[in-house]
Amino acid sequence: MRFETKAIHAGLEIGNPSKSIIPPISPSTIFEIDAAGRNEEDLHYTRLGNPNRLQFEYLIATLEGGAAAAAFSSGIAAAAAVLQSLDPGDHIIIPEDVYAGNRKMVTGIMNRWGLKSDFINMTDPATIEAHIVPKTRLIWMETPSNPLMRITDIAAVSEMARSRRILTLVDNTWPTPVNQLPLEFGADLVLHSTSKYFGGHSDILGGAIVAKNEDEFFERIRLIQRMGGAVPSPADCWMLSRSTRTLAYRMRGHNEHAEKVVAWLNGHKKVADVYFPGLKSHPGHDIARKQMKGYGGMVSFIVDGNQAESIRIVGRSKLIKRATSLGGVESTWEHRQSSEGEGSVTPKNLIRLSVGLEHPDDIIDDLEQALA
Ligand code: PLP
Repeated sequence: MRFETKAIHAGLEIGNPSKSIIPPISPSTIFEIDAAGRNEEDLHYTRLGNPNRLQFEYLIATLEGGAAAAAFSSGIAAAAAVLQSLDPGDHIIIPEDVYAGNRKMVTGIMNRWGLKSDFINMTDPATIEAHIVPKTRLIWMETPSNPLMRITDIAAVSEMARSRRILTLVDNTWPTPVNQLPLEFGADLVLHSTSKYFGGHSDILGGAIVAKNEDEFFERIRLIQRMGGAVPSPADCWMLSRSTRTLAYRMRGHNEHAEKVVAWLNGHKKVADVYFPGLKSHPGHDIARKQMKGYGGMVSFIVDGNQAESIRIVGRSKLIKRATSLGGVESTWEHRQSSEGEGSVTPKNLIRLSVGLEHPDDIIDDLEQALA
């Protein structure tokens, strides 16, 4: 079956004994135990498992081509579960421009618990290789990166890591499996903030880890999901499954609109540079073309002006909402450095735009008046 078909049908057979076309939301926190005694396979308490969570986990694992998935109450809870599955003293390599919340979690929490980390530019596999030490256990990729749009070669890094028994993870929140399938390129784990394109309507907070293999490391992640307890509600899982059915078509719209916006921004007198992997001039374009089917709906651009001018431009929008986060049907933008805070490597004159599903000419009209 093709992606679009799987997105609509996968997961409906699981935890759905009534064979509803749209499965019901199961609010019950408890499930009756068999008279003959407790069977580990059965559901008994919602923190450990719930029909709606099983459905969404099956769906996202299927779409990423993984063996299993664990859903969390946020993307950052999913990221924390991976890091907590490592041992104190383990070392990770992670992008210097990784999503700022994940950077703060590593430096503010995990380093205190003994995790060692190197934040580096991950555009050249040789630089990554040079940072590997005997205790390196995980290489974390975010490609395209947030918000510098740097590209990492997933296949090259995964191959290098595999030969050294190092795990690889790709934060696939921005491209989504519609545009990029990291497990096909050899990665072990995929991370999602499902608050973004999977939810797609800026009304759900969630996260997920998809694993290529249901191995011992994934069992650790599952244990943290169940015993850490940062699980999504049945209603959120239901909403996510519902939104996922249209993911392929929404991403097609985001891809197409972003291309149009980029073509308009590129060369504008107030724009010094546009960061978008679909541009032939982007330094990572050839690798992006190899590992991506579309370039997504996120665009970063550098204002030909200072920080104050960049903030002023964002303040002038009428249609594009001034908001953080991304991946909704509505276009949003922000002066990114202001929201990243301490430790940010983002230029002071960078604006990050999440191109939505409004008519692209209306988005461009708003950009035109804001940049005038
Ligand atoms: N990964 C990326 C690439 C993100 O952009 C975000 C949030 O902005 C996260 C992870 C964290 O997800 P959440 O906000 O759902 O915790």
